[in-house]
Amino acid sequence: MSAKLFQFLDVPRQPPRTVPVAVRVLGYGEIGGDFAMPQASTQAERCIDCGNPYCEHACPVHNYIPNWLKLVQQGRILEAATLMHETNPLPEICGRVCPQDRLCEGACTLEQTAFGSVTIGSIERWVTDEAFRQGWRPDLSNVRETGHRVAVIGAGPAGLACADRLRREGIAVDVYDRHREIGGLLTFGIPPFKLDKGVVRTRRDVLEGMGVRFVLGKDIGRDVAFESLLEEYDAVFVGTGAYTFVDGKLPGHALQGVHDALPFLIANTERLMRDEPASMFDFHGKHVVVLGGGDTGMDCNRTAIRLGAASVTCVYRRDEASMPGSAREVNYSREEGVSFLFHRQPMAILDDGNGQVRGVRVVETRLVDSGDGRPKPQNIPGTESEIAADVVIQSFGFLPSPPEWLTAHGVQLASSGKVITGAHGRLPHQTSHPKIFAGGDNVRGADLVVRAVYDGREAAKSIANMLVSEPAKTTVAVG
Ligand code: FAD
Ligand code: SF4
Repeated sequence: MSAKLFQFLDVPRQPPRTVPVAVRVLGYGEIGGDFAMPQASTQAERCIDCGNPYCEHACPVHNYIPNWLKLVQQGRILEAATLMHETNPLPEICGRVCPQDRLCEGACTLEQTAFGSVTIGSIERWVTDEAFRQGWRPDLSNVRETGHRVAVIGAGPAGLACADRLRREGIAVDVYDRHREIGGLLTFGIPPFKLDKGVVRTRRDVLEGMGVRFVLGKDIGRDVAFESLLEEYDAVFVGTGAYTFVDGKLPGHALQGVHDALPFLIANTERLMRDEPASMFDFHGKHVVVLGGGDTGMDCNRTAIRLGAASVTCVYRRDEASMPGSAREVNYSREEGVSFLFHRQPMAILDDGNGQVRGVRVVETRLVDSGDGRPKPQNIPGTESEIAADVVIQSFGFLPSPPEWLTAHGVQLASSGKVITGAHGRLPHQTSHPKIFAGGDNVRGADLVVRAVYDGREAAKSIANMLVSEPAKTTVAVG
């Protein structure tokens, strides 16, 4: 129990200050500020150790939250970092990008009162950053090498979490990715104002220090045959994500000035990484309309603001309460100057007569009972109108994009394209092929970083359980 049980009565919830709006929209730096030590500790002391840690249940990786909050209260930062890593291989990243209002902090007992939840995510982030600053690294000195080797395909959060846990189980691991940098959507999708790319690079150093080997710039199926990985390794984990764009099939989608969300965000991130000017994405003086109200839509909104847009309007077919993403990201968009137009269904993207977009035709909607708990938007006849736009960004979500080499090896998919795992007596996260495991967005559909982390971690445990009774193919030196 906290030494100061009623601290929450005297100390209000105080997340770290964010960078002022006028400054943040000028660049791509992370907008979340950092705690100083006394502040982190004081905020941790607000935990009432309620006895039934709802926060822990609501956290998808089931972090030992009250336990590490106690260590922070006592100033035992390195021990807190070690405890965090027992459940979460990427705590500094989840602390930054989890929608805490829907997960741990939303479930905090104090959140059900007028006092507001403990700032769990910011503390998780601060502890890991501070531990790294002090030179802390995971201690694998007690790990006994098994001689087993596993290939991980995909260096996104699912693949990285799997690699971390495999090394802790004494299994050698090579992580393959088609990109030249690790992180998957952490690096190429999520914009730097939410997650600085240096944070992912530090994690790469940490994982390499644990003996993880990255084989980057290799597209499996094109540069390396999947078959060869199956032959060479004792098991393969596939964390290849979900990249099939949901096509709204809007007339006019091929006009100049119309972008799909992910290629737009990736191209902007890549040019920032190369330190190049905005060129094709110079939105100065332009009116931008973003179609879609999820987290990716919010990232497009805020990127368009930074690219100099004269106005950004986000169009969503339901109401604000039904938005699928984090309320925090909607608030940030609003603070940075984005306008929202709710209850509008896009009907067509409009041509200016020269192949360039000039606007979007929308119709008003009302929400009706769908029978499945989530109200469905219904168009209201006779309410069509036009929104002027020089640029339109379509952000309707993503579906799994299962590589054909998976099905060629008998891996079963659901009709949605999701990889099926754990069925018919299989181990958790094991596919219908006994040597192939999978997790993250390719199993769940587009979801969250922390759920991909959970899948990667748990898949590694299943792989270790399977291999424990099998002789290793080869003995390898790691490190
Ligand atoms: P990915 O991160 O997609 O990684 C898959 C990796 O596999 C990629 O690196 C890819 O290059 C590689 N790969 C695929 N095929 C091959 C192949 N054949 N050969 C080699 N490599 C291959 N979630 C949050 O929790 N918070 C957020 O704020 C948030 N913001 C988001 C913003 C955007 C714009 C997007 C698109 C998503 C966001 N998400 C967010 C969702 C989150 O990023 C994903 O749920 C998560 O990254 C999924 O992890 P993954 O490891 O399954 O897949
Ligand atoms: Fe909260 Fe995400 Fe951290 Fe879990 S991993 S404690 S949900 S911020």
